[in-house]
Amino acid sequence: MLIHNATVVTWGAANAVLPGHAVLIKDGHIAALGPDAQLLKAHAHEVKLDAGGQLLMPGSICAHTHFYGAFSRGLAIPGPAPKDFPEILRRLWWPLDKALDEKSVRVSALIHLVDAIKNGTTTLFDHHASPNFIDGSLDVIAEAVAESGMRAVLCYEVSDRDGEAKAKAGIRENNRFIERMRREQPAGGRLAAAFGLHASLTLSDETLDACRAALPDEAGFHIHVAEHESDQEDSLAKSGLRVVPRLAKHGILGPHSIAAHAVHVDAAEIALLAETGAWVTHQPRSNMNNGVGAADVEALLAAGVRVCLGNDGFTQDMWSEWKAAYLMHKVWNRDPRRMNGAEVARMAVHNNAALAGSFFGGAPLGEIAAGARADLILVDYHAPTPLTAGNFPWHILFGFEEGMVTATMVKGEVLMKDRQVVTLDEAEIAAKARELAPQVWERYTRFATGNP
Ligand SMILES: [Zn+2]
Repeated sequence: MLIHNATVVTWGAANAVLPGHAVLIKDGHIAALGPDAQLLKAHAHEVKLDAGGQLLMPGSICAHTHFYGAFSRGLAIPGPAPKDFPEILRRLWWPLDKALDEKSVRVSALIHLVDAIKNGTTTLFDHHASPNFIDGSLDVIAEAVAESGMRAVLCYEVSDRDGEAKAKAGIRENNRFIERMRREQPAGGRLAAAFGLHASLTLSDETLDACRAALPDEAGFHIHVAEHESDQEDSLAKSGLRVVPRLAKHGILGPHSIAAHAVHVDAAEIALLAETGAWVTHQPRSNMNNGVGAADVEALLAAGVRVCLGNDGFTQDMWSEWKAAYLMHKVWNRDPRRMNGAEVARMAVHNNAALAGSFFGGAPLGEIAAGARADLILVDYHAPTPLTAGNFPWHILFGFEEGMVTATMVKGEVLMKDRQVVTLDEAEIAAKARELAPQVWERYTRFATGNP
């Protein structure tokens, strides 16, 4: 396929904005990038897609999300509003994940996948929990991902919070799925696996060791780290160590591991995160919603930590997460110089692309260049001022909106065209979710009020 009549935004090591350019796609990869006239002449018989002057960009990447949370939208938490993050976990997320069965896990994933296609987010790192449906849960999500045509890295969050049997089942599920991916997913496939862990505060030393022992060396962990002070208090009480050294001691942090949040880490922990090579993900909308504070992202980046951008299960519109990151640090520090647009792009574009590339191997992701993977979007944005490689992040921060994405493509396959999702039936999925929601909410309410 030849996409022509586009303004190509390449990202990659040196961003370029190229009006009147075309991209040739072959076998799921970008085969050529060049001026319209040149490529139209050289590939006259190729199937063509006229971009109509829109921006052609790499799809967005989300480094940390939770497909399982779709049924929380509009849900009433019984009793007074939770006063802090530990209460939010106990009264919202833990009863809700217990309420999920096979059908609701599938539909919850599909809701997020539709949202991601519509918002041009083409690679997603999911972190799943459904303690009453553990065995096979990652297969159900994988099937939804395959149906959607998206690219995703899946894991199941191991936790001791529901007892030893469920912790062991979580370990088995990660191991089984990692093995399945190794067997079935060729290099260049759309699915990959990590090994999920909830957070230090719900994991014993024995379970951490069991997870480490169960993980093949080249796979990585995906775990919440110091999202709230309670994670540090618990870790100090359990081990005499803060969270990052505790996890490092048990071999959980390494160059393939993802530490979500890192809001409450001290300078020594930042240095240790840099030393281990672990990825850190930043989720500003979630941090604000939970009132947990703001991670010192600039200090993490300055220390050499590879900080990525996730959304923690908020909408899959990553440009909203860009804006939240850009704004939150300014108000938190009372300083408009904090978290400039280039730093947001460093996380959301460059570090996210490197993270995704490390899980999918081989060809680069998240850039437009010959040989890169054809995960692309068309954006209907008419710039009112000059659009340059240097000022592009500020066009996103101040000009881009949800709904500007008109086409989404993964591995060269069109998943949305002219704002119509073609791989999934959005109305049918939403109808199915509305049909299941009352049952999910009823089970949630029983778990939340202690009457299971
Ligand atoms: Zn999370």
